Amino acid sequence: MTYAGAMVLAPDFAETPYWWVRSPPSHVPAELPASTDVAIVGAGYTGLNAALRLARAGRDVTVLDAGVIGAGASSRSAGLVSGRAGISKMIDLTALVGERRANAILDEADDAYDELRRFVADENLDCSLDHCGRFVTATTEPMLAKLEKKMHEYNAVGLDEPFELVPRARQAEWVRSELFLGGMAVRNAGTIDPAAYTAGLIGLCRDAGVRLVGQDAVLDIERSTTGFAVRTQSGALTAGDVIIATNGYTGKLTPWLQRRIVPMSSTIAATEPMDPTIVARLLPQRAPYIDGRRLITYARPSPDGSRILFGGRARFRPISLTTSAEILHAQMVQVFPELADVAFTHAWSGFMAFTTDYLPKVGTLDGMHYAVGCNGGSGIVAMSWLGQLTAAKILGEDRAPSPLEGIEFTRQPAGTLTRHFIPVAGTWYRARDWWDHRPA
Ligand SMILES: Cc1cc2nc3c(=O)[nH]c(=O)nc-3n(C[C@H](O)[C@H](O)[C@H](O)COP(=O)(O)OP(=O)(O)OC[C@H]3O[C@@H](n4cnc5c(N)ncnc54)[C@H](O)[C@@H]3O)c2cc1C
Repeated sequence: MTYAGAMVLAPDFAETPYWWVRSPPSHVPAELPASTDVAIVGAGYTGLNAALRLARAGRDVTVLDAGVIGAGASSRSAGLVSGRAGISKMIDLTALVGERRANAILDEADDAYDELRRFVADENLDCSLDHCGRFVTATTEPMLAKLEKKMHEYNAVGLDEPFELVPRARQAEWVRSELFLGGMAVRNAGTIDPAAYTAGLIGLCRDAGVRLVGQDAVLDIERSTTGFAVRTQSGALTAGDVIIATNGYTGKLTPWLQRRIVPMSSTIAATEPMDPTIVARLLPQRAPYIDGRRLITYARPSPDGSRILFGGRARFRPISLTTSAEILHAQMVQVFPELADVAFTHAWSGFMAFTTDYLPKVGTLDGMHYAVGCNGGSGIVAMSWLGQLTAAKILGEDRAPSPLEGIEFTRQPAGTLTRHFIPVAGTWYRARDWWDHRPA
């Protein structure tokens, strides 16, 4: 397919994640048991991390997923990981929860990233985790000023690897593009192969005796005298405890959560392989850049350094993956004009979950535990952490509660109708981005 004269889609273009070339979600599902100690709905980072911890503590654990195990958002993400930089840029955390809790949330985000790095090293997971940093770009002077303010907030506690404002003159150390006016360097961040991480978790879960039941949607959960009665597409089971780990795929099973979450689709495309020196020139630290505009785009190198993975939200209304790929290609060429003739071999999408205050949520609902609300690009670290934390709660471990616990989980203003307003909001954000960047 060509777009503005350039080849956008390679002849072998596939609408599946590039990550699945290395780590296809091919797990053979287990049979549904009659009963289990803990039933977990959702086999992503949240559910699998919780399952592993519970199984290693001796619990009988069953993970249920509507899709193929390992094919949800967790094996589709871009693989950007970080500490406190992952807390949404959309919020003024101190105004929202007060200074003390805001600092505790930022510290916990750093702990969660440290924990991911420790876990991957200790378990010897082969998932290309690279502590390479991140660069957040600015396209206008006011954006640069905002990044500077954010940098001071982040640095307030005196970090080992402080955030740094990088002027345009030094920007090429991080990203070689004429589009940006400089930005903020984030050292405590990196990249991972998200599908290899998910596959690693699946392997560890299987070794620990976790039952992984795929392609079996949970239809209904009712409280019983001994715990819960869980009805699935293929049958039924009883469970002592239940964890809801459905994030952007949360549906009618839990209407209370559904009213509080807006699922948002996001798309990534991978270029065909090119001379690695080109990739290394464009992104010299192997680190991703994230464009700090309202409608985020980002790019990272593939772990082998031969491709660029370019992501963002192409449109806020449903469109085909090939149309999304065309839009992403045009955006990529805006940033890196020399990639005009480099086609995409893969494009794919998945759902993230947004909450009204842009914070992840962990708690209980009618006796069931839940951990949801990745709010964009921090789900790998945050949801892994919250999955482990939820397991620790079920195990009754003596552990300080997360500062995220107890923050009100409010309904979306128009309930599930909110998702119908997303295209309107998207058009509004696009218009504001255009206005901020209009020619002088
Ligand atoms: C394109 C894209 C790029 C992203 N990039 C990044 C990134 O760079 N960095 C980052 O940190 N995060 C990123 N994310 C977010 C990250 O992928 C998510 O936060 C994370 O995968 C959430 O994990 P989870 O386990 O909570 O949920 P998921 O991995 O979404 O798993 C939820 C599962 O629940 C299942 N389910 C739902 N309802 C039912 C039911 N009734 N019965 C049975 N199963 C059910 C679904 O089938 C699904 O598999 C990205 C997401 C997308 C889509």
